[in-house]
This record gives sequence, structure tokens and C-alpha cells, in this order.
Amino acid sequence: MRISPYGGTLVSRVVDEAQWKKVLVAAGTHSVQIPDEDQINLFNLATGCYSPLTGFMTEQEYSDVLDSNKLPTGVDWTIPVLLRVDKALAGTLTNGDSVALRDQSLRPLAALEVESIFSIDTEQYCAKVFGTTSSEHPGVQDCLRKPVTCLGGTIHLPASSIPSLRHFQSPVALRAWLDASGKETVTAFSTRNVCHLGHEYLHTLALEITDMLGINVITGAQVKGNFLSDVIFDTYEYLVEHYYPRNKVFLQNLRIPPIYAGPREAFLQATVLQNLGFTHFIVGRDHAGTGNYYGRYASQEIFRELTDLDIEILPISEPRFCKVCKKITTDRSCRHTGADVTLINGRDVRRFLLEKRYAELSNIVREDLQRYLTGLVEEHIDRSSHAPELELAKTRQLFYN
Ligand SMILES: [Zn+2]
Repeated sequence: MRISPYGGTLVSRVVDEAQWKKVLVAAGTHSVQIPDEDQINLFNLATGCYSPLTGFMTEQEYSDVLDSNKLPTGVDWTIPVLLRVDKALAGTLTNGDSVALRDQSLRPLAALEVESIFSIDTEQYCAKVFGTTSSEHPGVQDCLRKPVTCLGGTIHLPASSIPSLRHFQSPVALRAWLDASGKETVTAFSTRNVCHLGHEYLHTLALEITDMLGINVITGAQVKGNFLSDVIFDTYEYLVEHYYPRNKVFLQNLRIPPIYAGPREAFLQATVLQNLGFTHFIVGRDHAGTGNYYGRYASQEIFRELTDLDIEILPISEPRFCKVCKKITTDRSCRHTGADVTLINGRDVRRFLLEKRYAELSNIVREDLQRYLTGLVEEHIDRSSHAPELELAKTRQLFYN
């Protein structure tokens, strides 16, 4: 039997076209334009990724989450899901109104039934969600940029609003596919980076423990200087197609807006993954963290405090390259430390590529993928140097700019 959605029922706020017409008529002239990251939350709410939430949070939901990491029903929840709007616009609305939510080109994507109009204290928000009010923290910076007035209430969204994206499956579709596969247990690995040998180590562990592995590439943040999500997908797709056991590994586009909330964000990821049908979730060092704001393993510890999720956490130590053992190990699997080990992280992959220190990639990235990535860097100079066995480049650049 497939793992239960969080809260017991998979939420769907997707309406058919006839209902959608009525919803739009009810909204009349009330409308608000929402940015990309609110759109991601909107699609997550509508398709059940955020079950049991049925809409943007009301004041009661918000204050309960902030005060006690719980929804009013008593289940654990860590990150407020807010629709923050201009104060003047909120002033034209009252509870009971319906409002159309539009994208940048003013296309109506969904409608919200206004149940709650309230303001938040951003300092309190940052202290609770990020554990800091430091203006250096990217989540704090982002929070301070946004309006403080919020609209809460349930949403209605037509299926035609859901974007068609590479490797994206809704919880309903992925659960049906997993059921058809006949496999019971499936581990989620989540990443925002190109595939390196530390990731491969974690994939191996997952495949030893459970029947399947889903590689979740977190998209939604187009942060300047980060790898394009297409490049990230390419690296994992290549392994799935050429190396990993057949029918046991798949890719999923995990749509979560940039939050940078460390442990609390790890909990939100776990919530979405359980709703998608995953039974296990690899949580490593400083998962969803940023800078030095969170303890190295704080994202594992939160799951010992908040225990309502059914998805099983696989707390893994940080894989690193051991120069003595000449392979990837963790501090649990070999005794070497200090100068004997090289820590692996995505930022290094990026730096070595940009500075053309290609030799230093050799203990970090599989050889085929090194050729692919360096091929993309060199492409601007000589396209023929692009690794011919890796005709995967769906893009001509590496990073968001
Ligand atoms: Zn060693």
C-alpha cells in the first residue's frame, strides 16, 4: 500500500473548465498579479503537494505555524505559505470576496476565496522561520523586500494553468505511476546541483535500502550564477540512462520556491515528498541551509522533534573524497580526516569550471560528466570540443545570469 498523503487525504483544488468559468465570474474585477514563487506555491497547493493545506494561510494558520510549528488542526508544519500583496489592493477586498490570481502577463491562473486579511511582523517572521534577523541572510533579505499584508483562503485552479515542465509529475500522477511499478519503497534524494560523486554515493545507499530511487531536482529558484536546471537534469538523466539499474531510478522536478530556512525547509521538502508518494528521504549535512546559520545536522534533528510525517528520514553523514582510501567515504566509514579528505560541494564544481581548473574535478565528478560540463564551458570557444558521447546539451549555457 502506498504511503498516506500528509494529513490522510491528498488535496486537489483543481476545477474543470465549467467550474472555472463560474469562479472567474465570481471574482469579477478583483484581481492580483502574483510573482513566480507565489505561482509555485499556488500549483503546489492546487495539486496536493502541500496537503493538507487547501489554500494560502489564514492569520490563524500563520500564527499557529509561527508560534508552535503546527497547523490549527495540530499537525506539524514549519514554513508559512503566504500570499503577500500590496496593502492598498488588500484594502479594496473584504472577507468573502473572490479574487483572480494572475501571472505577469495578466493571464488568470486561479482564484482565491478571501477568508482572512492580515499583516505580519517581518522581524518576528524572520526570527522564527530563519532563526535570525540578520540582513546578510538571503531568506531575510527576500522577506524584507515583500509586502507585509497577506490574503488567506482556499483556491480554485483550472488544469490548464499547470505548466508543463521537464520531469514534473503531480502527486496524483506520480502515485499512480509508482502503484503501476509494483515497487513498495522509494527513496527521495533532493538536490539543487549537478551530479557529483558524493551524490552518487548517496544514490548507492538508497538503492541498497529501498526498491526505487527518485532524484528530485529542486527548481524554482533562478539564482544568478547557479547551474541552469536543464544542466542539472542532464547530468542525472545521463546516469539514469547509461549506468543506473533499469526501472529503478527516475527523475522528478521538485518545485519549491527559494526559502533558505535550513531545518524548517527540509521539513517542508519531506512533506511534499510524502505527498508525492516517497517512503524514505535522504537528509544530509546542512540540508536546505545557507552560510553558517544552521548546525551541520540540524536538518536531521528537526525530524526527531516533529514526528507527524510518515516518510522515513535516512540521516546520512557527508560524503567526501578520501585521498588515502582513494574513494568516497563518510566519517562513519573511514578513519581519515583533515588534509586526507576533500569535502565535495556544488560550489567547488562551479568554481573549478569557471576558473578552468578542470583537473581538480577528477575526484569530484564522474569522468563522462566532467567532459560534458567542460564541454559546455569550452563551447563558447570551440563547439567541436563538446563531448560527442554526451549529446544531452539542451542549452548553450551553464548558469543563470
Ligand atoms: Zn579513508
